Amino acid sequence: MKGFTSLYDSTAVKKLLEADAIIIGNCNCDEFAMGSTNENSCYGKVLNALDETKVPGGSSGGSAVAVQAGLCMLSLGSDTGGSVRQPADFCGIIGFKPGYGRISRYGLIAYASSFDQIGILGKTIEDVALAMEVISGEDGYDSTVSSKDINKFSNYNDKVKKPVIAYFKNALDHHSLDPEIKDQTYSLIAQMKMDGFTIEPLNFEWLEYVVPTYYVLTTAEASSNLSRYDGIRFGPAITSNEVDLTTFYTTTRNDGFGKEVKRRIMLGTFVLSAGYYDAYFTKAQQVRGILSEQTHYIFKKYDALIMPTVTSTAFKLDELSKDPIAMYLADIYTVYANLVGIPGISIPLFKHSDGLPFGLQIMSNKFNELSLLQFSELMLKNYKQYT
Ligand code: GLN
Repeated sequence: MKGFTSLYDSTAVKKLLEADAIIIGNCNCDEFAMGSTNENSCYGKVLNALDETKVPGGSSGGSAVAVQAGLCMLSLGSDTGGSVRQPADFCGIIGFKPGYGRISRYGLIAYASSFDQIGILGKTIEDVALAMEVISGEDGYDSTVSSKDINKFSNYNDKVKKPVIAYFKNALDHHSLDPEIKDQTYSLIAQMKMDGFTIEPLNFEWLEYVVPTYYVLTTAEASSNLSRYDGIRFGPAITSNEVDLTTFYTTTRNDGFGKEVKRRIMLGTFVLSAGYYDAYFTKAQQVRGILSEQTHYIFKKYDALIMPTVTSTAFKLDELSKDPIAMYLADIYTVYANLVGIPGISIPLFKHSDGLPFGLQIMSNKFNELSLLQFSELMLKNYKQYT
């Protein structure tokens, strides 16, 4: 898409402009929003402004650093499996992914359409809530947007009530979690209990399935969404007209896509292929159904679910880029919210002894963005150690 200028504004951008927002630029991200480090961008890598030997996270890493470095007050990103919350965690800012269907996806480049949601990165809940109020709501161009009441998100300071909270014990005890992130999160839970919060551990037996399910379903959707980049309708085209159509498509797609995007198109095509469809795609859809059911039960009893956002602080540049599986596994805490379509936020509460910030992720039931923002504000006011 290098050099591509859109012919129209996305609904989110249009609404921001109508509210007199001043848009100052486009941000770098991983190619087609696939990645966790910004190392997959054809424009080069974004660096973490707190430590340039570290990645900013991804895929919306440019959006995170723009806010982190004070270039702007707010930015938008896309969150299909954590791409707003994870870079916010690595950069020490707020990253908020509303529930699926809150913000129109019209004008957002599709990666996996049943997961994609526009998210907001900022430094205060007030800014994030205000932006949410402006860009959310029904849109004739995206039939998946809910017609449910648009809450007055910027009234998040009204009637704050203490939520009943759950956490997945097996997520906090997971072997991949950095021990200090684990300890600090457990200390926070202990402190909150002393302060009168009800916080209960749950054993979420589906935890190990979330990453495989996410990668089967999103790559399947991506292989379909990205088929339009054939050099005729979108994307760069090879210039030779001496070739037949199949060679034209193949050469164009081979030259135009980066390594990670090709990997995902191939994986997605494989899981959708006749011999494997039921074993992978259908199975993953079934798991997604079970996850939704489980989530429904959890939020019958609890108002909020807390979890770390990522398994570690910001990765070193090049640390994981040669090991895609390790990179995928690091998404264990963020993909769940997209699989079940609930809102999630990462708030910058903690500081690690390595000097880097890390966040707490909070999720709420569908359409409970307002109480999620209220609770996040309360947490930032009372428990923020990272300055
Ligand atoms: N890291 C995840 C992935 O690579 C998240 C991507 C996203 O949310 N756009 O798929």
